[in-house]
Amino acid sequence: MMDDCIFCQIVAGDIPSRTVYEDDAVLAFLDANPLAPGHTLVIPKAHHETMADLPEDAASDVFAALHRLTPAVEAAVDAPASTVAFNNGEEAGQEVPHVHGHIVPRFSDDGGRPIHALFGDRPDLADDELADIATAIEDAA
Ligand code: 5GP
Ligand code: ZN
Repeated sequence: MMDDCIFCQIVAGDIPSRTVYEDDAVLAFLDANPLAPGHTLVIPKAHHETMADLPEDAASDVFAALHRLTPAVEAAVDAPASTVAFNNGEEAGQEVPHVHGHIVPRFSDDGGRPIHALFGDRPDLADDELADIATAIEDAA
């Protein structure tokens, strides 16, 4: 546990939350400032800041909970869809430095947009640049 981490304090029970799911490795609770009714956060109980810091078994546990909870959240608020996403790192807009997946229910007239709308101008990448990037990712994975 990180003493100054708000989500670790929720895991410890020091800060109240509206818990919707809990197992040995994962906690899920309603977002305190929801983007839609049912907006849920899914976190590993152990403190890890970003995806890169998250051990593979904890990543599997978090994804299993997302897989279980996404249809449950949608059903609870009668949503036909959801955006499931991580702000991964400060530059990506992550405000709480404890890995968390967002499940945000979506509705046909909610005024929201797809993940693609988060970005500005698209880079114009040549074929050789794409090939180099693919190789670099493959080597790092
Ligand atoms: P981020 O921007 O880091 O991806 O998202 C952090 C989320 O945590 C925000 O949606 C914010 O509303 C939520 N949040 C921040 N503090 C608390 C809290 O104390 N309790 C709950 N339930 N949610 C919180
Ligand atoms: Zn933490």
